[in-house]
Amino acid sequence: MLDWEDETPFDKLHEECGVFALYGHPEASNLVYLGLYALQHRGQESAGIASSDGRKIHCMKQMGHVAEIFTPDVLNQLPGSLSIGHTRYSTAGDTAIRNAQPLSVACSKGQVAVAHNGNLTNAIELRRELEEDGSIFQSTSDTEVVLHLVARSRERTLAGALRDALLQIEGAFSLVFLAQDRIIVARDPHGFRPLAMGRLDMPDGTVATVFASETCAFDLINATYVGEVEPGEMVIVGPEGITREHYTTPEPTAHCVFEHVYFARPDSLVFGTAVAESRERMGRMLAQEHPVPADVIVPVPDSGVAAAIGYAAESGIPYKQALIRNHYVGRTFIEPSQAIRDFGVKLKLNPVRHLLEGKRVILVDDSIVRGTTSRKIVRMVRSAGAKEVHLRISCPPTISPCYYGVDTPSREELIAANKNLKQIQDFVEADSLAYLSLGALNKSVKDSENKYCYSCYTGKYPTLVQIDELILAKTGCC
Ligand code: AMP
Repeated sequence: MLDWEDETPFDKLHEECGVFALYGHPEASNLVYLGLYALQHRGQESAGIASSDGRKIHCMKQMGHVAEIFTPDVLNQLPGSLSIGHTRYSTAGDTAIRNAQPLSVACSKGQVAVAHNGNLTNAIELRRELEEDGSIFQSTSDTEVVLHLVARSRERTLAGALRDALLQIEGAFSLVFLAQDRIIVARDPHGFRPLAMGRLDMPDGTVATVFASETCAFDLINATYVGEVEPGEMVIVGPEGITREHYTTPEPTAHCVFEHVYFARPDSLVFGTAVAESRERMGRMLAQEHPVPADVIVPVPDSGVAAAIGYAAESGIPYKQALIRNHYVGRTFIEPSQAIRDFGVKLKLNPVRHLLEGKRVILVDDSIVRGTTSRKIVRMVRSAGAKEVHLRISCPPTISPCYYGVDTPSREELIAANKNLKQIQDFVEADSLAYLSLGALNKSVKDSENKYCYSCYTGKYPTLVQIDELILAKTGCC
C-alpha cells in the first residue's frame, strides 16, 4: 500500500514520448512501425504497437529500440487495418515493462488501447480518488488514470466516455486511442505537446488517416501533412468517416517551446512551424545578441547543429564540424568499471584536433541543464588545442522544471536555477558564456501571439501544477 503522505505513486512524472496512429490501411502495423522508427529520438526506453483486426485488439511492447523489437515475426502478430504505436523514454526510476505503452484493456466500452505523450498534472489526485473508490492500478504511469476514468464513465459510447475522461484530466496530453473499429485522438486544451494529422493516398483511391507527434514520421511512409489536431480537439476516425469536435472550452495555447529548441527532429514541422528554420533563426539571433571575435563556429552534435549554422551564417565566421559524434553509442554499451568511467562524453564525441588547434572557438549548443556535459565538452575542445572556447546557448537559462512531459531534473539540479551567468561560465570553464534572450526565442519560433509555453525559462506555469502534494500557484504563461 502506498503512503500518500510521502510518496508519489508515479515513478516517472516527466515522460518524453512519441505517438503514432493510423486508420484504414491493410498493413497498418507495418506503417506504424515505420512511423515509430522515425520517432525513435522521442523515446528509447520501450516501444509498443497495438492493432485491431476489427474484432480483437493485439498488442506487443518491449523494452528497447523500435528496430530491435519489431521483427517481421512480431509484426505478423499485429494484424488489421488500424493501429497505434508509442516510443517511451525515461532516464531514471521505473524502467519496467508494465509502464511501456500502448496500455491495452477490456472494459465496459469494449477493448481499448491508449498511447500518451505528455504528463498529467493532476494524476496523483485522480489516482487517489480512483483507488479510494476501488480501482486497481497495474502500472505507475499516469496514462492508466485515463483508462480507469473511461472504464468508469456512465456514458455508453467510447467517444462519450473519453470526453468524460478528458474533462477530468489536466496538464499535457496528446493521446491516441485504438478501439475495435476506430481510432480516436485528443489533445489537451493548451496544446502543450504536438500532434499532427496526415493522409495517405493509396493506389486504389482509398485514403488512410494518420496522426503523429512529428511530421518526419509522415515523410517516411509518404503521407501528406494535413494540419494540427487543434488544442482541445478530439478527432474520431471510424467506418462513418472523420469527425472533429472541440470537447472543452478554449484555454490559452501553450505549445512547448523546447520542442523547437531541442526535442523535435529538425526535419519536422512542429506546431505547424519548420524546426530547422526556427533553430537556424535562434542561431542567427544568438550571433546578433552575443557576438565575439573567433576563428570557427563548432556545433555540439546533434543538438547544436542547426543553431550553429545560423550563428555562422549571421556572423560570417566559418562553420566547422570539429566534434564528431558516434551515433552507435547506446544500449549495448556495458557500464564501465570506475577505472575507465571517465571516458564519459568521449564515447559519444571526439574532437577533430586539426580544426581546433590554436583556434578561437565558438561552441554552440541548444541548452545547459546540469552543466556537467557542457563542462566535459568545453574541456575536450580545449584539450584538442583550442586557444579560446566561447559557449553560446540557443535558448535562455533553464531555471525551472517541466511538468508537461520534458525530462528536466529538479530545481536543485538545474545549474541556472542556482548560479548566475558568471558562476555558470566558471563551472563549465568557458572563456565566455551567453544565452539567447527570451524575446529572441519568441521571435525565432514566430510566436507573435504568445502561444508558446516558456515555463522552463520563466518559472511561470500556464496551469496548476501538482507535484508531490505541492500546489504551485497559477501564475499564467508568459
Ligand atoms: P549538461 O551540460 O549536463 O546540462 O548537458 C547539456 C546537454 O544536454 C545539451 O547538449 C542538451 O542538448 C542536452 N539536453 C538538454 N535537455 C535534454 C533532455 N531533456 N533530454 C536529454 N538531453 C537533453
